[in-house]
Amino acid sequence: MTRTIQFYIDRHARKTLKQINNKLRRFVLCTFNQKYIEEKQKARYGDCFQCGKCCSLILKCPFLEGTDGNTRCAIYNTGRPKQCEAFPIDHKDLHDVDFLCGYFFSEELKNRSETKIYYAASGSGHTP
Ligand code: SF4
Ligand code: SF4
Repeated sequence: MTRTIQFYIDRHARKTLKQINNKLRRFVLCTFNQKYIEEKQKARYGDCFQCGKCCSLILKCPFLEGTDGNTRCAIYNTGRPKQCEAFPIDHKDLHDVDFLCGYFFSEELKNRSETKIYYAASGSGHTP
């Protein structure tokens, strides 16, 4: 029992540390490496539906209004920080929101279609 609790505590701690690290990473990239951001955004598709997941990482942003399922950023079109505009910069950021985001990257599409081709070729009939 104690080991199970310890496992969940460790897992939560690891996730939080990763989120802190990714927050810092976004800040550094947006401040010092705009070129990287622009390059990555060429392969980004979809749209933000303002679910607020990326606004509640570690701490809830004070500009996030509304409740679960009906959130909005109070400064979405009037000067939200660069890190917010750039989210998700790449695949790593999608991990932070468990891939529940309106954006995706072309690399994921490629992987998905390759998996489908594999399943079709193997004749399993199962496609993820
Ligand atoms: S997680 Fe994605 S869809 Fe949700 S608010 Fe952030 S960028 Fe928008
Ligand atoms: S400023 Fe807006 S987009 Fe940025 S974290 Fe806060 S609520 Fe989200």
